[in-house]
Amino acid sequence: MDFDLLIIGAGPGGIFSAYEAMKLNPELKIALFETGHSLERRKCPIDGVKIKSCINCPICGIMNGFGGAGAFSDGKYNITNEFGGTLYEYVGKQQAIELMNYVDEINVENGGQNTRLFHNQNTHLRKKCMENDLHLLSASVRHLGTDINYVVLENLYNKLKDNISIFFNTHIDKVEKLEEGYRIFSKDKSWSGTTCIISTGRSGSKWMGNICESLGISTKSNRVDIGVRVELPYSVFSELTDELYESKIVYRTKKFQDKVRTFCMNPRGVVVSENTNGIVTVNGHSYEDPARFTDNTNFALLVSNNFTEPFKNSNEYGESIARLSNMLGGGVIVQRFGDLIRGQRSTPGRMAESFVTPTYNATPGDLSLVIPKRQLDDIIEMIYQLDKVAPGTANDDTLLYGVEVKFYNLEVEIDEHLETCHKGLFVIGDCSGVTHSLSHASASGVYVARYLYGNK
Ligand SMILES: Cc1cc2nc3c(=O)[nH]c(=O)nc-3n(C[C@H](O)[C@H](O)[C@H](O)COP(=O)(O)OP(=O)(O)OC[C@H]3O[C@@H](n4cnc5c(N)ncnc54)[C@H](O)[C@@H]3O)c2cc1C
Repeated sequence: MDFDLLIIGAGPGGIFSAYEAMKLNPELKIALFETGHSLERRKCPIDGVKIKSCINCPICGIMNGFGGAGAFSDGKYNITNEFGGTLYEYVGKQQAIELMNYVDEINVENGGQNTRLFHNQNTHLRKKCMENDLHLLSASVRHLGTDINYVVLENLYNKLKDNISIFFNTHIDKVEKLEEGYRIFSKDKSWSGTTCIISTGRSGSKWMGNICESLGISTKSNRVDIGVRVELPYSVFSELTDELYESKIVYRTKKFQDKVRTFCMNPRGVVVSENTNGIVTVNGHSYEDPARFTDNTNFALLVSNNFTEPFKNSNEYGESIARLSNMLGGGVIVQRFGDLIRGQRSTPGRMAESFVTPTYNATPGDLSLVIPKRQLDDIIEMIYQLDKVAPGTANDDTLLYGVEVKFYNLEVEIDEHLETCHKGLFVIGDCSGVTHSLSHASASGVYVARYLYGNK
């Protein structure tokens, strides 16, 4: 065997499994394989001047490379079982929280020591939300910010690089089961290992499906969340964001009884685009450094769609809607809430009259031509509801960027150790379908490393 442990994907899942395995047994021969670049070589070419929107780079600087999809994220590590994944279903609620707290300790030790940990368990805002049929989910959140998140990743990389083998720009094409262990292939090269952990994230979702098919591992896919990114003046949401930073609020709509939720809140942040397998969608982040604050807050409003028989490919449904917005707007579309309600397109002229200055240069357009009626009605209903706890949310100039799609990976059949039906082959992080967040993905990596190399 070339290695004791092969890890595919250097996102939070892969990094934390490597970190914990190395810590538990420094003698281990560990190899980490990553499609993208090392941290300092990761770059998105959009500069807002020469390149204004996504040009579909062969390797996306935002999604791929050391740090995974989380590298330029807002670095919000939510410590909770209420959202961000269902790791607790495999490891138990208490252990899941312990693992997330441990990840937090590592982040703090590696550069996050001056960042804030917010708690929302005892806030009066919970009551205020409840009075308006809005439900605030419980969590503690460490906000590293995009800048400190980068520092933490740099420090983790420096600890890993002298102890394990890291292969960048190495896309693994195939995983083969050997009599004892596994062999993985990238172009004309291959490596063998006793144990293999796959942590290829959301960008590796399709790849994961193919690997599961080739190895006879069962999967299912029935969920996708569709919505918009809302951008409004910071002061509109400041009561919530100053105290809680991130508030996950869920509302069940009267009309369709669908659940709509706020997601990924970025006080004083910026809206950005994101490219998943050639499809451009919208996202957002913010910085910890006050010098990089903007005047706006952005967050996503997402409608959950769970499909039943006979439809099986929820991600394709989400992709088709995102493709529509890409077709009409050449990328992301932006519309003022007032224009949407009046049934008119936002034009460059109407945008110029707006009191809210967009932080992302999207194409002014009409989201009602893109988002299906059901989801759009749900979003409008939620905006009016949020207006009751954060007055100003339903203002004319509130900006809606579309579409934001939260793709859920295939759910891979794994046992309580996150091990597949093949002994020694583990699937962790977002590509397993079990996690959808930095903290859960990282925790799943620690969990498997401890199962393999800790005291049993
Ligand atoms: C813009 C943005 C902002 C976000 N903000 C937050 C946030 O604030 N808080 C939060 O909790 N979550 C956030 N998320 C989600 C979070 O980043 C993910 O949940 C998390 O990164 C998942 O970790 P992972 O290790 O499972 O996968 P990923 O981070 O996706 O990492 C997987 C890695 O595997 C590599 N890979 C894929 N296929 C292969 C292959 N075949 N061979 C080799 N390598 C491969 C990829 O290049 C990638 O680097 C954000 C995501 C984005 C895109």
